[in-house]
Amino acid sequence: MAPYPCPNCKRLNHFEVRVCPACAFTLGYDPSSDGFLFLGDGATTWRDGGGQPHDAVVCANNNEYGVCNWLVSASDNTPYCRACRHNRTIPDLTVPTVPERWGKIEEAKRRLFHTLIKLGLPLETKAEEVDKIQGLAFDFLYDPAAEEQGQAQITTGHDGGVITLNLIEADDVARERARRAMGEPYRTLLGHFRHEVGHHYWSRLVETDAEELAAFRAIFGDETTDYAQALAEHYGPNSNKVWTDDYVSYYATSHPWEDFAETFAHYLHMIDTLATIGGMDMRMAPFPGPEGNPGAKIDFDPYHASTEQLTAEMVPYSFALNAVNRSMGQPDLYPFRLSPAIMDKIDYVNRLVARAAGRAAAPGPDMRAA
Ligand SMILES: [Zn+2]
Ligand SMILES: [Zn+2]
Repeated sequence: MAPYPCPNCKRLNHFEVRVCPACAFTLGYDPSSDGFLFLGDGATTWRDGGGQPHDAVVCANNNEYGVCNWLVSASDNTPYCRACRHNRTIPDLTVPTVPERWGKIEEAKRRLFHTLIKLGLPLETKAEEVDKIQGLAFDFLYDPAAEEQGQAQITTGHDGGVITLNLIEADDVARERARRAMGEPYRTLLGHFRHEVGHHYWSRLVETDAEELAAFRAIFGDETTDYAQALAEHYGPNSNKVWTDDYVSYYATSHPWEDFAETFAHYLHMIDTLATIGGMDMRMAPFPGPEGNPGAKIDFDPYHASTEQLTAEMVPYSFALNAVNRSMGQPDLYPFRLSPAIMDKIDYVNRLVARAAGRAAAPGPDMRAA
């Protein structure tokens, strides 16, 4: 995402900021105006950079537990912010390791919601669920077996709009162990959220629409094949699945549902990364060779861009950012490669999101030139 300036002193801050490091004023993110508001010395009214007062209060999860930095309209029918109102179960906070882990989980979740809101995707809570419209909810669960014996009893996953996350995923050591065991190049809390919400949007937007479902099957394959069997084969000792250029990850090869969720997550990775690069106005010199670029820059809105725009800039920027990470001895920032087949899948997601948000998909560069 683009960096947000402090509304008081204009310092650029990270999205998790609560107190501006420069001017020491209290800050809160207001989703309805997509900006931070501040409380001045002793003030009780939240104001924006222009000094205008806003009818906002801090999210109840901040008041009660200190795990949120978002604001909610005082006239809203819930005391919880746009991200927290989807929580159905919060973990047992009497367990000593839990509060810190839950805090990390909420940070990742707010980044997810920021992108979903910017994209204009529908976001109903379970209370707003009607007919074919599936609401979204989260169960964040402490799993003693995972913490004490390293044997998870609670599976992170999605079912009917409910995303369950095992709190052990917020433990860096446990998550890295799982990443190695699964042979994954990338495993993060934010990645989990982006993947699981992909399952939600599949059932919210694709499953309920015959035309959409047909378009999905043409690209991702027949999802009616037995899911449990597909996963058992994928994880089984005789798995003959190969991670080819047609899939964004090895896990995506297991079943069309997982392929879609992995692609959806990947789409959100790209949008957010490019929005950050664009928000900083980071430009690159012309890039030679077969995958060259005349000089990468984000002169478009990644939340409303064509797939061609997104992928064309992702290639040089990901090479550059991987090089930066390697110069710090870190693993690649973007350990993926975009193939034509993957771009087709990302394009399906991009168009699906545009339709769900009620706008036409952005035209490709060729069409813009015409
Ligand atoms: Zn400040
Ligand atoms: Zn909140």
